[in-house]
Amino acid sequence: MKPIKSKDLLELDKHLEVVKLQGYPIPEQVIWQAGKGDYSEVPIHKVKVPSHNECGEWIVEQLLANERGHWGPIEHPGITFSCSGFVHNVIVQARTHRIGTSWDVQSQRYTGKRVVKVAKKELDIEEVFYVRPAGFYTNRKGKKYEWTEEHRQRKLGRILSECEEYADYYEQGMCEEHIRDYLPQAIRQNFVVSFNLRSVLHFMDLRSKLDAQLEIQALCDSFAPELKLWAPNVWSYYEEKRLHKARLSP
Ligand SMILES: Cc1cc2nc3c(=O)[nH]c(=O)nc-3n(C[C@H](O)[C@H](O)[C@H](O)COP(=O)(O)OP(=O)(O)OC[C@H]3O[C@@H](n4cnc5c(N)ncnc54)[C@H](O)[C@@H]3O)c2cc1C
Repeated sequence: MKPIKSKDLLELDKHLEVVKLQGYPIPEQVIWQAGKGDYSEVPIHKVKVPSHNECGEWIVEQLLANERGHWGPIEHPGITFSCSGFVHNVIVQARTHRIGTSWDVQSQRYTGKRVVKVAKKELDIEEVFYVRPAGFYTNRKGKKYEWTEEHRQRKLGRILSECEEYADYYEQGMCEEHIRDYLPQAIRQNFVVSFNLRSVLHFMDLRSKLDAQLEIQALCDSFAPELKLWAPNVWSYYEEKRLHKARLSP
């Protein structure tokens, strides 16, 4: 049986979503300006900027190819994503990346009503909690097992009971910052994250490698098409030389 991959998760779980909110309009031009400015006699804003594609080709040839490693100019353009439906553990892992990243994560101190709605059957459990799709799984330690529909249903049942208890406490007037501690870890959280182009590629170095947790790989898989559209030349260099290759910074 073929093991479930991160891309399969995005097909099977329709609650996982990544939407680009904003990004520099022409990122490869500003990288060109920053890089060229390093050895321009005149201020770079006085120099005519080539087309996006010409800038991109220059970046790859002059800054990146042959391990030049001139990543500094690639830090200038920023991009912001809205990410929704990701399981709590993805957020915990993602927030370990501190440099060049900014995060705003949905707080469980203010969003307990969705759990109460699950308890009252006003919201589907799987809108609020993530339970892996049924299928065959492996992990980096070589475990191989089938996660059946029966396993899933048993887990969903347990989660529902936890939600019912949460709703009970909530309605007794207990505060969310207290009772959130007893929520199942499988809760989904939404977040907004901003990167610069270098930091998002660094994030992908570490989190789209094939032994990272599937769900965070799925987050990276969702960034990929946006990055390809946004900074096509840098992306194609990155995709060929680094993506999934576990080429890590020290
Ligand atoms: C597969 C995997 C499993 C992991 N498991 C765990 C785990 O079990 N528990 C856990 O706590 N974490 C875990 N981590 C997190 C990991 O230890 C790092 O904290 C995380 O990957 C962030 O690394 P970063 O290079 O993006 O850091 P950032 O803080 O974003 O830094 C970016 C870069 O800046 C440099 N840098 C930043 N700060 C320093 C510093 N203080 N000193 C020297 N150089 C610095 C480094 O070159 C670094 O790569 C895991 C990460 C991965 C990818």
